[in-house]
Amino acid sequence: MGVTHANDDTLMATIRARALLVIEDDAPIRRALQNALSDVADRLLEAATGKEGIDLAATERPELIILDLGLPDALGVDVCREIRSWSRVPIVVLSARHSDTEKVLLLNAGADDYVTKPFSTPEFVARVRAVLRRTRLSRRGTTGDDGAVVEAYGLVIDIARRRVARGQTMIRLTPIEWDILRTLVSNAGRTLTHQQIFDAVWGSALGSPQQYLRVHVTNLRRKIEANPARPELIVTEPGVGYRAELPA
Ligand code: CA
Repeated sequence: MGVTHANDDTLMATIRARALLVIEDDAPIRRALQNALSDVADRLLEAATGKEGIDLAATERPELIILDLGLPDALGVDVCREIRSWSRVPIVVLSARHSDTEKVLLLNAGADDYVTKPFSTPEFVARVRAVLRRTRLSRRGTTGDDGAVVEAYGLVIDIARRRVARGQTMIRLTPIEWDILRTLVSNAGRTLTHQQIFDAVWGSALGSPQQYLRVHVTNLRRKIEANPARPELIVTEPGVGYRAELPA
């Protein structure tokens, strides 16, 4: 996932969090995560239940949460929704299952990424670092927050002025195409579900998000992608949604 360059790896390796919280009832997995993440965080907080996890998230304000879905006292998706109702802390979900439906449910509940067990330690650490990096960049406003100008793949996307150009040529987008592009670019690197994009653009739950979106995304790609059949900026996550990929 994502575009990786040599200097990006260097940057990623230096990312360190103040505190991470692991919510997982399985002690051996908690220990494995502790070992895997010792280079990523100064402090690793542990919770064995959903309730304990929610309490620690509130009192310790970790920089990122790793949340196991199979907890003894609560559904992981409810824990995710609860934390998301008062915090923007990034949440990486661990799951033994891997259906698209579950992934959609979790992303809609506010999870930032999703790792299926069993996972390889290097891949898991890379995913955690990627989420940390993305969160920091977006808080600094460099991944396309309102007011930013994003340059990628020969395009210049001016979020505040609602303008997109290829070289000197302005590209004319419909208001809906523009809103889809802005929503994806403002969340670059993060997969948004059909429902999340639909809510952000239309602000209502009428109709079939997937169908509406497919039509508009096809039109949008025809206008902004160098090769609409092989899109670079707006990537499809099959069965889930779409994601803007910006070069690092
Ligand atoms: Ca578990």
